[in-house]
Amino acid sequence: MKAAVVTGFARPLEIQDRVIPLPAAHQVLVRMEASGLCHTDIHAAAGDWPVRPDIPFVPGHEGIGIVEDKGEGVDRIHVGDRVALAWLAEACGHCDHCVSGRENLCPEQRNSGYSVDGSFSEYAVAHGDYVVKVPEGVDPLDAAPLTCAGVTTYKAVKVSGAGPGKRVLISGIGGLGHLALQYARIAGAETVAVDVTDAKLRLAHELGADHVVDARTQDVAKEVRGLGGADVAIGLAASNASLRAAYDALRRHGTLVLVALPADGRLELPVFTHVLEGKSVIGSIVGTRQDLAEVFRLHRLGRTRVIREQRRLKEVNEAFADVLAGRITARVVFDFR
Ligand code: NAD
Ligand code: ZN
Ligand code: ZN
Repeated sequence: MKAAVVTGFARPLEIQDRVIPLPAAHQVLVRMEASGLCHTDIHAAAGDWPVRPDIPFVPGHEGIGIVEDKGEGVDRIHVGDRVALAWLAEACGHCDHCVSGRENLCPEQRNSGYSVDGSFSEYAVAHGDYVVKVPEGVDPLDAAPLTCAGVTTYKAVKVSGAGPGKRVLISGIGGLGHLALQYARIAGAETVAVDVTDAKLRLAHELGADHVVDARTQDVAKEVRGLGGADVAIGLAASNASLRAAYDALRRHGTLVLVALPADGRLELPVFTHVLEGKSVIGSIVGTRQDLAEVFRLHRLGRTRVIREQRRLKEVNEAFADVLAGRITARVVFDFR
């Protein structure tokens, strides 16, 4: 089988021929149909974050495929099922986070495409309890971006308190942002979309953003405060400056949800105004298996649109470069079929 492998940080990925893995107990073997390319894969391959993956590794955590085989002790999933391989490859299942609906915070978790080989591969093994079934009627090419970009922003919107009467700023209308905008609208909020490329700003209009701000030519905080300020800002651009601009756009009692993870990510806060204006800053990391099931259900009902471009896995390095140069609207999906 072919897999795209990181053999050194900031080196081009290599397409390698590997042996198809055998599913161990509690594992399933998945034949990949589609895998999204998340900006996290680019951070992973560049070694951008304080905890780096062990080299070599296969990135990818928006994998969709068909179960071809399974090890002992897998009862819930059957050969022939279509499943999603998300960032949460597995968790311990018994810590306080796991047992109270916060498995995405489990300190023992393993992550697809980071600490275990991911979905940039024709086949992958995955834990049978942690793959999520993709409902009939959801196109695998749509399901792929929903598996990280979708679930992450669905969760971020949920924890943000967005709802009717709230003004929500979405900073970065990329893979994550174009779905965040849709979830904020589903929640009933007024939306402000911010980006730095013409194509993304056009996309934001098309997806029904109430206001669109071009961070290249406009002062984001000033524009949004001119509207009355943001009750919620969701930071989805891998840029420290964009996170601070989103914070500065908040109105009193506003909440900034940090999602993007820029290399050397930092946010300096003005303590005095933070306290006097009663603001909050929270972090949000992907979502749970249940959140992903809800994301698939909403899509199945026709409430979300996934904007994507298909590529072949052998074009992985060009695809990375295109994401970094802002040439993709909004997600690359590798089509293995
Ligand atoms: P992307 O490259 O598809 O989208 C980023 C968008 O930000 C692009 O549209 C880009 O034009 C825009 N942008 C760049 N600079 C900007 C600025 N100054 N102001 C406004 N917009 C700007 O990336 P993505 O796949 O959507 O991922 C975004 C970030 O989220 C990455 O850092 C990724 O690692 C992170 N991420 C976090 C989680 C989580 O669970 N917390 C999950 C997935 C991804
Ligand atoms: Zn991701
Ligand atoms: Zn746990």
